[in-house]
Amino acid sequence: MSEQIIEAPVDSPAETPQEVPVTFADLGLSEAVLEGVKKAGYERPTGIQAQAIPMILTGRDVIGSSQTGSGKTAAFALPILSLLGTPGKLRVLILEPVRELASQVEEQFLKYGGEAGIRSLLIHGGVGYGKQREGLEAGVDVLIATPGRLLDLMQQRAIDLRYLEILVLDEVDRMLDMGFMPDVRRIVQQCPEKRQTLFFSATIPPEIASLAAFALKDPFKVEVGRPRGAATTISHYFYPVNRLQREELFLALLKETDFKSVMVFTKTKADADMLAARVKTQGEYKVALMHGDIAQKDRTKALAGFRTGEFDVIIATDVAARGLDVTGVTHVINYSVPDNPEDYVHRIGRTGRAEKEGDAFTILSADELPAAQAVERFIGQTVERRRLPDFAYQYTTMLDDSKGAQKALAENLGRGRLRVGKRRR
Ligand code: AMP
Repeated sequence: MSEQIIEAPVDSPAETPQEVPVTFADLGLSEAVLEGVKKAGYERPTGIQAQAIPMILTGRDVIGSSQTGSGKTAAFALPILSLLGTPGKLRVLILEPVRELASQVEEQFLKYGGEAGIRSLLIHGGVGYGKQREGLEAGVDVLIATPGRLLDLMQQRAIDLRYLEILVLDEVDRMLDMGFMPDVRRIVQQCPEKRQTLFFSATIPPEIASLAAFALKDPFKVEVGRPRGAATTISHYFYPVNRLQREELFLALLKETDFKSVMVFTKTKADADMLAARVKTQGEYKVALMHGDIAQKDRTKALAGFRTGEFDVIIATDVAARGLDVTGVTHVINYSVPDNPEDYVHRIGRTGRAEKEGDAFTILSADELPAAQAVERFIGQTVERRRLPDFAYQYTTMLDDSKGAQKALAENLGRGRLRVGKRRR
């Protein structure tokens, strides 16, 4: 499998439209799509757009990665709409790991594809089948779907993939992890063999091409910015603490931080519920909650309210970690270190979007040191440790700044006395 890699210099800042010396008109997009771009108010393509769009327009398979919030959706949506031209049969399928992300991608298709009358439809679980069936019957060009409901409808023969030309796996590392892989394989098997396949994510492991050989043909790899790195617009810090003080430090951080809107991530639904209840009782903030056990209509309300500013804090599990594009998230707080380093990059990537600045804090207790080190290895950078001034810290080795103490702790943990959760892969 031949692969070409286009890489921006490692230390280059996240791409800003001004730094890319091409215009959308240079990229070969159709007039209708250029009109859509103009309406969206974008002046220049971002790095990933400048590099991926011409390649996608040639019809080749592409693996595209660039930092969170750098315009990846438009990097595939614009050339796809251009290739589609006018309305016809169902020709494009886009797979997304979570419902809210699917909905956001659909909004972008509507925004850019309106001029050409391209019809897109959202298919996901947690809601009735009626509207989705009606949409399919009315005819659609682009389907944006989560795997479970899509398979349901495929089994009911409500979806005809015979004319499919382009398949997109967005957040591809998530789509190909163990949880999704069986469903994704079944879907890919039912797509025509002659098609174009596009993979996108901010975190693409090097082994993806071999892992996904069943779906790709001679992919062209476009990698912009530091692979797997956090966007340079995000300042991120670890806040070490004795694990017994985790909740106390979290509440203090929230209080001391001058945030406009903050996303808080927890590992478990129970932690999310507990924290939401704690923050609500304080009465200072308007809090929304989002996790897999919350009914879809309430998840939608939570996210919509967070977007409009009705809520200033959203407490969520990793269902909200990827892709969600909420402008003006000034802060992300990780209540604990995520077990998978990829999740760290995606979670903190909810802030610092589209060149805005953002801060991300991660509370770190001694038992999480191996997970924290895994994050640092993954992003290729040491994360600065910070302390909250005036917080009444109880002693933990984590607060001992001497190199010897930290090393001894890391070695002890490394020997497996305390274990963190397993990596997904
Ligand atoms: P994404 O990484 O696809 O989630 O996009 C992040 C944000 O950047 C979204 O709000 C997009 O609307 C916005 N965006 C995408 N492309 C451009 C561009 N060329 N210029 C300015 N903003 C953009």
